[in-house]
Amino acid sequence: MKQSFSRRSFLTKSAIASAGVFGAATALSDTFGMTYTNKIDDQPKLSAPSDLKITDVQCGIIGGSLFVKIHSDQGIYGCGEGVDAIRGSESLALGFGRRLRGQSPFNVHKIFEDIRRAGHFGGGQAGMYVAVLSAIETALWDLSGKALDLPVYQLLGGKFRDKVRVYCDTALYRVRFPSPDDFAQAATDAISNWGFNALKFDLDYAGDPDKYDRYNWTASPGEINRMYDQLAAVRKAVGPKIDLCVDMHGRYDHVTAQTIAKKVEDLNLTWLEEPIPAENYDAFKTIAEETSTPISAGENAYLGHAFKQLLDNGVDIVMPDLQKCGGLGEGQRIANLANLYYVPFSPHMVASFLGAMACAHVCASVPNFHLMEWQSYFHTNDMYKKIVIFDEGDWVKDSFVTVSNKPGIGVDLNIEAMREYKRGDAPFFD
Ligand SMILES: [Mg+2]
Repeated sequence: MKQSFSRRSFLTKSAIASAGVFGAATALSDTFGMTYTNKIDDQPKLSAPSDLKITDVQCGIIGGSLFVKIHSDQGIYGCGEGVDAIRGSESLALGFGRRLRGQSPFNVHKIFEDIRRAGHFGGGQAGMYVAVLSAIETALWDLSGKALDLPVYQLLGGKFRDKVRVYCDTALYRVRFPSPDDFAQAATDAISNWGFNALKFDLDYAGDPDKYDRYNWTASPGEINRMYDQLAAVRKAVGPKIDLCVDMHGRYDHVTAQTIAKKVEDLNLTWLEEPIPAENYDAFKTIAEETSTPISAGENAYLGHAFKQLLDNGVDIVMPDLQKCGGLGEGQRIANLANLYYVPFSPHMVASFLGAMACAHVCASVPNFHLMEWQSYFHTNDMYKKIVIFDEGDWVKDSFVTVSNKPGIGVDLNIEAMREYKRGDAPFFD
């Protein structure tokens, strides 16, 4: 006959058995068995997971981010963020939300796949559709973690590391035509002020006086020399041990990519990012083959399918944006795919600290994580501090983000503070 066997009965029997051994039944059942049993009963039951249901999805846009909040019938909620391809995306987010009502948030992969397949004829391969799906998917992980009292990295299979190393995007592109000295100063400032040991600089500059044609993206000899001089000034200022990453934002052509990748080889870059646009993945192959400078790409690629093509064409480092390319589960799948090619995973990140921490959970969960992007706006723009709630100390220290151990992502949204930055009369968490 099948016996019913509960966690409570097991604990009680264990206590009695222990009491028999030690001859102190009463004391042990009071101090061990019952205490432990009561402790289980006293645990805050945020949810009975099998019964948890999604009731509503709200959203709002702040800056370049779509924020979503998935509510449940047990008073807990999950938050997620999508970036870049999200202008005017509120109706899509709310539409996805309507189909979630009544579903269990724990079926994250199934919900992701249901929505992705539903978009087969409606843009489900890339762009806004996938960026919004990324926000929804991230919020499902957050809600599931809160319901189960587990951090997201644990739901993703556990962690390889407690801290995630980040590189600082210096945002020097906001300076008009920065000189080599400006580059060197920005590098030493990021190191001395904020403690970073990995930096990124942008080389593309449409206003370069040595550029002769607005639409042709073949860099002139003057532009090539300007790029080299800027990076050489940084390398000289920071020494050989600092990771020096370089982005060209996909704004040049194949011959320029070949030229600059070869020319900077002696500067020992960590990577040269998207020297050509990312629409034709085949074009990366010869660039990557012909230089010792590592070539990276992927911030405008969507879903694992695109990353397979980048990997098949010899890209040295993949950099998906998890708030855009499909969310945390797809980010982990891309990392694991790259791992089969022995390729590092260095995600692009232009989100708020909610998105940054969500990304950090995935970075912790895969063996081939290399570097995660970190933005200087976290240090210079108060909005980013105001719109989130986080009480675990420094956001970043010595170029590392400590992955939260709180249930879910570990970062909450401050909706009231966000309201100050909303634009127009678009839906905003109502
Ligand atoms: Mg980039």
